[in-house]
Amino acid sequence: MQFDYDDQNIFAKILRGEIPNSTVFENEHALAFKDIAPQAPVHVLVIPKGAYVSIDDFAANARADEQAGFFAAVAAVCEMSDVAQGFRAVANTRTHGVQDVPHFHMHIIGGNQLGRMLP
Ligand code: AMP
Repeated sequence: MQFDYDDQNIFAKILRGEIPNSTVFENEHALAFKDIAPQAPVHVLVIPKGAYVSIDDFAANARADEQAGFFAAVAAVCEMSDVAQGFRAVANTRTHGVQDVPHFHMHIIGGNQLGRMLP
């Protein structure tokens, strides 16, 4: 599958420092920041620094060190957040998945009891 990356998306602008964000963790390959419209007490977005459109693009095309760095950031966010009782990791993808920002991001959502995923 062909993945065409639009470098004008808002998360690309965050990575270039063109717009501010509330960073909670950063490493060589990933950035984690608070969602601007939180759906729960914990709502953090983890994004790779590389130009990947979606989770399937990232899984298919990111190098092993990029994937390791991304999941190290996920682990760090979970460790520092109030999610010991659980959380939801979400990667909305393309049209059917209602993905608004075309740069791969994983939502880490928790901090209280969530509803069922697909009511
Ligand atoms: P999605 O529908 O999975 O693409 O979700 C995109 C998410 O990005 C939404 O939860 C938005 O609230 C969030 N978002 C959009 N712009 C910003 C921003 N500037 N800083 C932080 N989060 C943002």
